[in-house]
Amino acid sequence: MVRQFFAYYKPYKWLFIADFSCAIIAALLELAFPLALNRVIDDLLPTGNWRAILLACIGLFAIYVLSGIFHFVVTYHGHKLGINIESDMRKESFDHVQKLSFRFFDNNKTGHLVSRMTNDLMDIGEIAHHGPEDLFIAVMTLVGAFGLMLSINWQLAILTFIVIPFLICLSIYFSQKMSVAFTQMFKDIADFNARVENNVSGIRVVQAFANEDHEINRYAENNERFRQTKLKTYRVMAWNASISHILMKGVSIFVLACGTWFVINQSMTFGEFMAFVLLSNIFLSPIRQINSVIETYPKGVAGFKRYQELLNTPPDVEDRDNAQAIDSVEGTICYNDVHFAYEGNEALLTDINFSVAQGETIALVGPSGGGKTTICNLLPRFYDVTAGSITIDGMDIRDMTLQSLRQHIGIVQQDVFLFDGTIRENIAYGKLDATEEEIWHAARQAQMENFILEMPDGLDTFIGERGVKLSGGQKQRLSIARMFLKNPPILILDEATSALDMETEAAIQQALTELSVGRTTLVIAHRLATIRNADRILVISKEGVEEQGTHEQLLGSGGTYSRLHQAQYV
Ligand code: ADP
Ligand code: MG
Repeated sequence: MVRQFFAYYKPYKWLFIADFSCAIIAALLELAFPLALNRVIDDLLPTGNWRAILLACIGLFAIYVLSGIFHFVVTYHGHKLGINIESDMRKESFDHVQKLSFRFFDNNKTGHLVSRMTNDLMDIGEIAHHGPEDLFIAVMTLVGAFGLMLSINWQLAILTFIVIPFLICLSIYFSQKMSVAFTQMFKDIADFNARVENNVSGIRVVQAFANEDHEINRYAENNERFRQTKLKTYRVMAWNASISHILMKGVSIFVLACGTWFVINQSMTFGEFMAFVLLSNIFLSPIRQINSVIETYPKGVAGFKRYQELLNTPPDVEDRDNAQAIDSVEGTICYNDVHFAYEGNEALLTDINFSVAQGETIALVGPSGGGKTTICNLLPRFYDVTAGSITIDGMDIRDMTLQSLRQHIGIVQQDVFLFDGTIRENIAYGKLDATEEEIWHAARQAQMENFILEMPDGLDTFIGERGVKLSGGQKQRLSIARMFLKNPPILILDEATSALDMETEAAIQQALTELSVGRTTLVIAHRLATIRNADRILVISKEGVEEQGTHEQLLGSGGTYSRLHQAQYV
């Protein structure tokens, strides 16, 4: 995992090296100060040469100024490095999520994902901000200060050192406890986000059922659990901080007492004593720093693990190695012995065989839950067939790139998803570089021109999140306009008008009929009246395509279709 983490430093190798070098210089300057002070006190003070002493003091100050400058550079560039790495990771995770398949989103909560891509990344960023170079400097000053302390008075240095193993054991102990706490905390935050996301997007249902109290209670549970976890984490952090504080202060007092004794016995000069006290402070401060790294580290590591997990989730559906980008298709479709199961081996579709000629409109009919939508979802490869194959113009769709395949297929569904934004943006989603002219043309074809003209801001009217400010019919028209712009040779209409009232349905049906002219079209509609004009009707059952023919043929044969038809019209 360490290697994977450091891979993110690669593009910033030089920044890292420069930062690192400055950090080393800053650390060396810090170590130089006590030594210089030692010389000033022992060599210069007894001479009483005030000019020289003044100059030396200026020199000492200069050391600090210089070290301050280097510290600035290190802090700034360290953070710059952190920000860059964080933003690379953010981009990488977003890019990856765009490619994940329907199956992934079927099985993962939106809130969890959002949490991973925001909170977790920030905590990983913390490591990158205060990461390896800080740790390195801390260790380096620790070792350097100890070496200098040894050279001044080895007995006292060793006595001071005795406390270190305790501090290290303490740190390891607490870091493990904290790692567990942070992993739990991440999980809680993710659950939390999922709950909020779900609640807010379903708030209209919540209020319609007057279930606010129920939601409030469920939220309170999450909230309390999160509070407890956080409390536990902070308790561990507080223990860690206070115990190491007491130990370190103990060391300082110990050094003070022993040092004084050595000075009185004249085995140490006063200058050496001063230098030793300063060095022992420098020696202990990295421990504080290492401690704070130990506090941020488990958090970042927990986040990084989850981040890696997300990145290592492969898309179920991806381009094959030799996939070709197909510029244009005629639109002949063929399903050959298609089998499909969502989870495990429970087959939903078996032996689906049918073909659709270019420009032909076929309708899929069957019981609700019978797999009509699923059949359509296999065509743009939202899911891949378990066995068999689907071809367009005789070419297996798995031999085309996903991008080019999906460019040739348009889907109009019952529940239209619109993006938060303007009417213009939503229509233009069908063709991102559409001109004003093209957008109006599409709007006219979808019969929504008048409606747009009546809106206060015309095309620039905001439609609210998921288009809440539009009626069902308006939303559907918008999605049809989007499809006119996309202009795909193959069209799927999945219960496109089922959610609408009769009158609106009739109007939209007209737009849909116009849309399907010249395109190979698969229609699913549960109101049979809307599909009676289809070139061919297929009745889908568990065993495959049970019967097919025109409306009249199927009625005449007296099979499933005629029974369904009777049920609706008697
Ligand atoms: P239809 O469109 O004919 O009403 P669907 O194709 O939507 O039927 O669904 C067929 C069956 O597959 C249903 O039993 C449904 O529960 C199941 N199903 C649909 N979508 C999924 C999914 N994403 N994951 C698992 N099962 C699903
Ligand atoms: Mg369906």
